[in-house]
Amino acid sequence: MSTQNLQRIFRPAGVAVIGASQRHGSVGDAVMRNLLDADFRRTVIPVNPKHEEIHGLRAYQEVGQLSEPEGQTTYCSVCHQPLITRVSHSIATWNLTDGGRCPRCSSCCAGVFESQPGEWGNRHLPVHIGQPTGDSKRARFAKRTS
Ligand SMILES: [Zn+2]
Repeated sequence: MSTQNLQRIFRPAGVAVIGASQRHGSVGDAVMRNLLDADFRRTVIPVNPKHEEIHGLRAYQEVGQLSEPEGQTTYCSVCHQPLITRVSHSIATWNLTDGGRCPRCSSCCAGVFESQPGEWGNRHLPVHIGQPTGDSKRARFAKRTS
């Protein structure tokens, strides 16, 4: 297994802190302080719909407002061909063959994909968070309700 993709986890270009806060004693404040005080040297992006600025950094209302082309692109895990590019919530390019395969090397892209992009985009879909059902190894916790 290649470790190239793990570099993005252990050496990220930046971190979005969902629930960032500067309310003393909150988890969001502790995470922000740890990143900023530890001289993280990467981009720290606070995300909190209730604030425009947190610890002197511009805060975003939701992750959909973030625009980071590299992080929003799905790459083939084998040949690293860009497969799906996104701009915010919108899909900019869709480069998968039927069955969700890479057109260059025919490797299957992890996930469940349709042959054409669905009607995703700038909209909110209600999600019901429930208890796992069926075989625990294949349990699904979230179910689309629309
Ligand atoms: Zn490929």
